[in-house]
Amino acid sequence: MASLIPQLSEQKRIVIKIGSATLVDAKTGRLRAAWLQTLVDDIALLKEQGKEVLIVSSGAIALGRKQTNLPSGHLKLEQSQAAAAIGQISLGQAYADALHKVDLNAGQILLTLGDTEARRPYLNARATLSTLLELGVVPIVNENDTVATSEIKYGDNDRLAARVATMISADCLVLLSDIDGLYTAPPATNPDAKHLPLIEQITPQIEAMAGSAGSSLAKGGMTTKIAAAKIAVKAGTSMVIADGAGYNPLQAIINGSKCSWFLAKANPITARKRWIHGHLEPHGTIHLDEGAVKALKSGKSLLPAGITKLDGTFTRGDAVIIAGPQGEEIARGLVGYDHSEAQKIVGRKSSQIAAILGYDGRAELIHRDDMVLSTSELD
Ligand code: GLU
Repeated sequence: MASLIPQLSEQKRIVIKIGSATLVDAKTGRLRAAWLQTLVDDIALLKEQGKEVLIVSSGAIALGRKQTNLPSGHLKLEQSQAAAAIGQISLGQAYADALHKVDLNAGQILLTLGDTEARRPYLNARATLSTLLELGVVPIVNENDTVATSEIKYGDNDRLAARVATMISADCLVLLSDIDGLYTAPPATNPDAKHLPLIEQITPQIEAMAGSAGSSLAKGGMTTKIAAAKIAVKAGTSMVIADGAGYNPLQAIINGSKCSWFLAKANPITARKRWIHGHLEPHGTIHLDEGAVKALKSGKSLLPAGITKLDGTFTRGDAVIIAGPQGEEIARGLVGYDHSEAQKIVGRKSSQIAAILGYDGRAELIHRDDMVLSTSELD
């Protein structure tokens, strides 16, 4: 059983979610700067080992309310939006300053629920996150609280972090929290509460164990953490809940501190490919010549040059069928262009795209990561 527990040191792409209660001192309302520096030291170490690290951080509202004379206790929506507008500046700056000290750069991304759900902004956000990671930058993500209204917002960064992790096919999501994991009952009130180090399956019993625990600063209790775990493991991302309060919180996990792991069933790439293959309604068919079929089967992206014909109407981000010269399905993928644009570049070289479309679009019609071959890839 113990051997099933994943190791943080073995994960390649890691998303770390930092809760307000961990980052901001509840008594003073100030950022825990010394703690943050130790977190960043841990991140620098992980990056030296070749890992990619992305941060989802709360704290904008907690920091912003301290800088104005907003009342303590519950804030109205427009008050918390104003607090977020103020606090996000200090929050982003704090990460940028701490990362600069270890020669790393931060890049800020503010997302709304819609950005992670609708196809087009989803692809755009994902492309920016991937580019930041390629550049070696540490993305700092938060919800764009200033424009999110109550019906269309996450409200808690646990689920936002899970969506971000699955969006970029992260191997692992670390929730740094004020509790060291999941217990069979609330540990503060029940002496018989047992800590669970590994959750292989999120059963109704597991969901029932998640009470509504939470501190005065944090939005998400254990319920939102379990909701995050469900999003993550389904997409192939393992998740760990750990107490983040102490210095060097990531090293602590690596050194075997108490925490709860939620096990992903498949790896993120396989899970994503299954999703593309099985769960999306195709909006059209892209027909290829023999050469393009060969290129695809050898692991290349789909370029406009090898396309003979387009059927159906699709917009960027839709699932489409990719067919060979005899009309046989050879793959499925998420298309990178709207039908009207794709039509203009069919059969043309990638180097001609900018001149034809009038802007410097992407070279491939379907990127390799957004495509699954109908044979073998899901085995
Ligand atoms: N986005 C909110 C903030 O930065 C926090 C949401 C949460 O606590 O999960 O203040």
